[in-house]
Amino acid sequence: MLIDTHGRVATDLRVSLTDRCNLRCTYCMPEEGLAWLAKSELLTDDEIVRLIRIAVTRLGVTEVRFTGGEPLLRPGLVGIVDRVARLAPRPRISLTTNGIGLARTADVLREAGLDRVNVSLDTLRPEVFKALTRRDRLSDVTAGLAAASRAGLVPVKVNTVLMPGLNEDEAPDLLAWALDHDYELRFIEQMPLDAQHGWQRTGMITAGDVLASLRTRFALEPEQSQERGSAPAERWIVNGGPGRVGVIGSVTRPFCAACDRTRLTADGQVRNCLFAREETDLRAALRSEGDPAHVDEEVVRLWRAAMWAKKPGSGLDDPSFLQPDRPMSAIGG
Ligand code: SAM
Ligand code: SF4
Repeated sequence: MLIDTHGRVATDLRVSLTDRCNLRCTYCMPEEGLAWLAKSELLTDDEIVRLIRIAVTRLGVTEVRFTGGEPLLRPGLVGIVDRVARLAPRPRISLTTNGIGLARTADVLREAGLDRVNVSLDTLRPEVFKALTRRDRLSDVTAGLAAASRAGLVPVKVNTVLMPGLNEDEAPDLLAWALDHDYELRFIEQMPLDAQHGWQRTGMITAGDVLASLRTRFALEPEQSQERGSAPAERWIVNGGPGRVGVIGSVTRPFCAACDRTRLTADGQVRNCLFAREETDLRAALRSEGDPAHVDEEVVRLWRAAMWAKKPGSGLDDPSFLQPDRPMSAIGG
């Protein structure tokens, strides 16, 4: 198992497949993009599958979520999903994507073994989409969502970040639209993980703000079993059900005590937290010469040690908090 000194067990592996992206969301990346990783620095498809095999067969991982950057930009994605779906025990496999290209790939990903998708969408207004992502691609995202639903990649979850002055008034419209399409909407508080270091606590839209805004149009009841467990979203029943909405208060309502995540960056570094300032290099271990069984053993040892050192919390509330050097797009959100 991947256990830490606070007794938490990591079973949910987030794998970043690339740090590149075809959008430039203002809360994530600067307009000009970032200095992308070189091809030689990226894990190969074989290396990714090997690390996931070790995680699943040796370290107790039961959920694998592919992310990035934009994971649909990874040429080998379908093959990777297919190979991971053949592992025993088979992990649940999901994808966090901006949805561009999903209209073309949803069916083939489903056939390869993908179980579910989370699509990020912050607005239904084309001009706001353009301002938020710096690209005019809203219709590609909604087409991707529809295709995911048709392909059975369900429940289709939609992740939304509200930004002051841009889409902060859109929560009720987004919820009405999501209920209408049978998508499960989750609002996520903006976190200090942007490459530009522009996040300010005072400016952010909080979970409390989101709930107040939704309540202007909907009745919200906390979900019966308000057993949040390791799920970061607090879920609410909308207008008596069956619709639900989730609110993820990563900053104001942290869920670190129940965290079950471990993260692998596209260049093969293990991170025990989104906000960690240390990484453990599995790529160097994988690329070292040696008997493959010994290399696997070394990866197991390094991964366990990385998780053992996980801090109790994100440190966001500590005055000495320092934003991690790598932004969300490079860590894998
Ligand atoms: N490109 C894919 C996407 O947008 O879904 C996957 C990677 S993206 C980094 C994963 C998620 O992180 C998205 O839902 C995005 O909205 C969210 N995200 C990015 N930067 C964030 C920030 N500073 N605070 C909160 N969420 C953020
Ligand atoms: Fe790209 Fe996702 Fe970051 Fe937006 S949030 S810039 S889609 S990686």
